[in-house]
Amino acid sequence: MTATLSPATVGKHPCPECGGDLQWNAAKQALVCPYCGTVVPWAESKAGQPGGAMVAEQDLLEALKNPASGRGWGDAAAGQKKREVQCQSCHAISVFVDGKVAKVCDFCGSPSIIEHESSNDAITPQSLLPFKISDGQMRESLRKWYGSRWFAPNKLKSAALTDTLSGVYLPYWTFDAHVSAQWQADAGHYYYESENYRDNNGTVQTRQVQRTRWEPAAGSLNHFFDDELVPGTTGVHAPLMRKIEPFPTLTDLKPYSPEFVRGWTVERYQIDLHQAAKVNQQDMEQQMRALCAQQVPGDTYRDLQVGARYEGRSFKHILVPVWLVSYTYGARNFQVVANGYTGAIAGEQPYSWVKIFFAALLVLLLILIGVAASR
Ligand SMILES: [Zn+2]
Ligand SMILES: [Zn+2]
Repeated sequence: MTATLSPATVGKHPCPECGGDLQWNAAKQALVCPYCGTVVPWAESKAGQPGGAMVAEQDLLEALKNPASGRGWGDAAAGQKKREVQCQSCHAISVFVDGKVAKVCDFCGSPSIIEHESSNDAITPQSLLPFKISDGQMRESLRKWYGSRWFAPNKLKSAALTDTLSGVYLPYWTFDAHVSAQWQADAGHYYYESENYRDNNGTVQTRQVQRTRWEPAAGSLNHFFDDELVPGTTGVHAPLMRKIEPFPTLTDLKPYSPEFVRGWTVERYQIDLHQAAKVNQQDMEQQMRALCAQQVPGDTYRDLQVGARYEGRSFKHILVPVWLVSYTYGARNFQVVANGYTGAIAGEQPYSWVKIFFAALLVLLLILIGVAASR
């Protein structure tokens, strides 16, 4: 069963006043005309289909076998103009729909970006989480976050106040699968025996010793994986992304529509469906092993073997909103990222050795004073 959301079914939302292209506004949580300021509420029905059927899963095996299915951003169909640029420094590829193209790379701040051949082998994002946190809210919480970084250089704090903050849609893959697994293992049950031993004085003492009784065990279980996430981004440093997850993809996804991404940067995925599906398979195998391990009776286990069948694997290509501050300190590039939906922040920071030196000195002084006072 292949349910591809063709971009042709995605309606255009012209401004009712002037006919201009509407853009998603995070602060207003509505579409706003950049020309005349008219605010238009977002309505799912405008996208051409009744809600529910909108955020569709695609068959994974079908897509891997037949790479042409669901490809292309369908720009011609939806009447959008799209440009791609690639950063020569961090190699991130940014896509811009209708209009603005950044002068510097959003991911590393490098000005050396060049036009990227926008090949049509890209899989269309089917759905996305629109920005919920506005840039105003973001600056406010970033200021607080920086304030809590004691040992960060002052330069970092000023970075929060200037306009280096960019809103970027990052590519993610989500995977579903039904898994039926069978496992067998040796289940270990603890028991205790009394044992005599001689202590250091040569006296005979008694102590309890833990032993394990092993018994063969087996079982089976079924599990449904729903929207397992695998990042397709290479622009944002991976450990940071893990820290600002989750993105509520199960409940809050909207069908892809150009209004949501117009005026924002979209990163084009560089971890493709093949690679992502492999990562997902490993993730699932690990989780299945853990689930089976929980089923083994007793106190411990050994020789756990799991055989599993993965059926009905499907995927979606989605975009998630992220606020990004990128800055260079010394020769290194540091990123601070925030979940554009939940507001969760994670960041890398350089340490100011001057500040750490004086803090250490202060601690030393306090200790010395403490010693002097106790005499
Ligand atoms: Zn207008
Ligand atoms: Zn870059």
